[in-house]
Amino acid sequence: MSGLCVGFVGLGLIGGSIARALKYYYPDTRILAHTRSQSTLDYALKEGIIDEACAIGPAFSACDYIFLCAPVENNLAYLPALKPFLKEDAILTDVGSTKTDIHEKAQECGLEPWFIGGHPMAGSEKSGIRSSKRILLENAYYILTPSPGIAPEKVARYEELVRSLKALPMILTCQEHDYATAGISHLPHIIASSLVNLVRDSDSEKQTMKTLAAGGFKDITRIASSSPEMWEQICATNRENIIEILDEYINSLIETKIALAEHDDAAIHSLFADSREYRNSIPDGAKGSLPKVWSLYCDMVDEAGGIAALATILATNGISIKNIGIVHNRQFEEAVLYVEFYEESALKKAAELLRKYRYVIYEH
Ligand code: NAP
Repeated sequence: MSGLCVGFVGLGLIGGSIARALKYYYPDTRILAHTRSQSTLDYALKEGIIDEACAIGPAFSACDYIFLCAPVENNLAYLPALKPFLKEDAILTDVGSTKTDIHEKAQECGLEPWFIGGHPMAGSEKSGIRSSKRILLENAYYILTPSPGIAPEKVARYEELVRSLKALPMILTCQEHDYATAGISHLPHIIASSLVNLVRDSDSEKQTMKTLAAGGFKDITRIASSSPEMWEQICATNRENIIEILDEYINSLIETKIALAEHDDAAIHSLFADSREYRNSIPDGAKGSLPKVWSLYCDMVDEAGGIAALATILATNGISIKNIGIVHNRQFEEAVLYVEFYEESALKKAAELLRKYRYVIYEH
């Protein structure tokens, strides 16, 4: 796959991250981009993320792949505009968080022979090209929803590209995608945002809740800081699935409320026991992903030199630290220090050694 030409429409967190990964793994790739703001293009050119800024037009005829990376409804609008500029073996794809609407539009525009929907299951509450990272896609599932009318060779080619960027391709229909993401992504975003608003509205004048929310509450509602523009569009393009799953969720909350009111403590216990069992069964990384993280947590007294002492013990025993950091949220983690190693044997040796020195260690 050398000498690729790749076009981007929209170049924010996701588009910028894909472009960076392409440049890294295929340095001779020529990348051209069109987006809303000139400042984004200027930045991308200056950083070497793209080679050329251009309007939707003949320049896109050279592209082997075109990635639509704007908010979902904007992506829809670009399909007819791009159609005259697609070469026969080009692949047109998007990264949008919903898939059924864009497939319907692609079909309506006669774009099935070119269109494969895509959704990298990676991201964050941050947005914009300045937050993009080459490694964003690494080890993340990357869902592909091929059009029914597309050549299998194109699907295989795109799958290979995704794999070569260190993501894990998974093929689904657009309907399967939209139902699954309504449950594991769209509903959680709605819950996080409504919970944050509930706390804001229920707080006292002294803002006691806001003060105490700095720990665990802030952690579990992190996604409420996501782009409102993006999430409005995601909800608008997956309305039915979200309503269905939201109904089920509301019913489950009502059941919990009834159990509380009726002093049904066994039901409340089951709520927590069942969820704990299921959550603990969810793998940490995607199946078949690159190396697992070998890490431990360690309780430490908050005193000067504490980290240095621990690092010295490890270093003098030949154990290299890959990553080390203080855990600021004590509500959800047992310990104060997080230490990551390069391999399992180093983790085991470090845990044994630190226990000998009477550190309290938690392995996960
Ligand atoms: P983002 O960082 O806000 O980037 C959006 C990009 O689209 C920006 O470059 C923006 O322009 C550009 N844009 C906005 N309106 C446009 C228009 N009318 N025409 C052309 N470009 C336009 O958002 P993102 O997180 O990368 O999300 C992009 C897509 O990825 C969305 O469809 C989203 O559903 C999907 N997605 C997001 C995540 C996530 O966690 N964030 C994960 C997976 C998939 P300027 O920079 O030029 O102003």
